[in-house]
Amino acid sequence: MADGGTGPIAVIGAGIVGVACALHLQRAGRDVVLIDKGEPGEGASFGNAGVLARCSVVPVATPGIMTKAPGMLFGADGPLFLKWSYVPRLLPWLIPYLRAAKRETVEHTARHLAPLVVDSLDEHQDLARGTGAEKWIRPSPYLFLYRDRAAFDGDAFGWGLRRAHGFTWEILEGAAVRDFDPALSPDYGCAVMLQDHAYIGDPGRYVKDLAAAVVAGGGSVRRAAVRDVTPGADGVTLDTDTGPVTAAAAVLAAGAWSGPLARRFGANVPLESERGYHLELTGPSARPRVPVMDAARKFVATPVDAGLRLAGIVEFGGLDAPPSAAPVALLQRGARALLPGLTYEQEKSWLGHRPAPADSLPVIGRSPLCDKVFFAYGHHHVGLTAGPKTGRLVAQLVAGLRLNLDLGAYRPDRFGQGA
Ligand SMILES: Cc1cc2nc3c(=O)[nH]c(=O)nc-3n(C[C@H](O)[C@H](O)[C@H](O)COP(=O)(O)OP(=O)(O)OC[C@H]3O[C@@H](n4cnc5c(N)ncnc54)[C@H](O)[C@@H]3O)c2cc1C
Repeated sequence: MADGGTGPIAVIGAGIVGVACALHLQRAGRDVVLIDKGEPGEGASFGNAGVLARCSVVPVATPGIMTKAPGMLFGADGPLFLKWSYVPRLLPWLIPYLRAAKRETVEHTARHLAPLVVDSLDEHQDLARGTGAEKWIRPSPYLFLYRDRAAFDGDAFGWGLRRAHGFTWEILEGAAVRDFDPALSPDYGCAVMLQDHAYIGDPGRYVKDLAAAVVAGGGSVRRAAVRDVTPGADGVTLDTDTGPVTAAAAVLAAGAWSGPLARRFGANVPLESERGYHLELTGPSARPRVPVMDAARKFVATPVDAGLRLAGIVEFGGLDAPPSAAPVALLQRGARALLPGLTYEQEKSWLGHRPAPADSLPVIGRSPLCDKVFFAYGHHHVGLTAGPKTGRLVAQLVAGLRLNLDLGAYRPDRFGQGA
């Protein structure tokens, strides 16, 4: 075995990325123990917009971000929030993040996001086949909504990148937008429809059903917070708050919480929590037919099984600060703007932590310091979409197989080892 041992593989973190790693490892014949400080599927994977966004090859930071950022931060309906006291801690991440908004870097990012997301529907269907998770996958178009054609033209850079990666779309204008979906506000004069996408009817339960499949396949799920990992001659020992766990190898898939352990094992990609919010409405009087992205307000509205979920917002403030009220109020205004006359029975809001690497590419690979430690974290805005593909790659890496994808761009030490 490439990992040097025959015991179980410990997967740290039971979000979509961790469960996908665990299932793929199990299907490759390995015993797995999936460890999470909480229940499976209750981190970022719980509350995302649920979109299998195979067209998401465009990172958030693109050329021109410095000119757009003040409007996003201070504008009445700006989707960017900052806890000002957090700025000094944010800077070591923010500087390389802004530097990565250059055209060539963004093109590099898109080139390496593409192989992780483009076949996401197939990857999810393959992962979930024969498990209780299969029922949550809903193939669907994905719609981007603009005020008018000029606003769409203003996003030409991103659409150009998508075209370069083979995506095509149909543009609906004026009455055609309402012909497709009469529930949408007439304020949207232009819609871009991409076919062959999908969404998950309940992202949290989807991950729990995948974790249940790990158990059904003979693996185990253990509730414990991993504090450290110590390499030994035959494998690794995980120090957890409920006692040690020995394993042949460990996969670090702890999402936005991966930083400290990853650094200890030679990963030095600056990682932040990009805080995002959702507002879930039960008993809504109207819902969009398919997931829609309000391109100006940067939220997605998804017709989830529980009702209507509006998800988005970028807030910087770290992992520990309590939720803020303003992002939720923005989503409430967004819901009313999207669906005029909307009424509903109840609303619930949620804050989650996107694992955001400074260059918007996940960390997938083997530790440069220990051949029994693997990384699978940092999936930013596309973790739900790219989780299954990541799991497949990690299982192949652990098995020592030759991969048909160059993982160089996802290297853990790409920002300089041990700095
Ligand atoms: C508002 C919002 C909308 C989004 N919409 C989409 C979307 O539509 N499509 C899409 O593809 N992506 C979307 N995303 C991004 C996506 O949700 C994330 O990229 C993805 O969930 C990350 O998955 P993960 O498994 O890496 O992390 P998580 O789901 O956060 O899982 C990490 C797990 O590790 C556990 N953990 C952490 N530290 C430890 C430890 N020391 N010991 C044990 N366990 C530990 C945590 O408890 C957690 O369960 C969205 C995110 C947000 C916030």
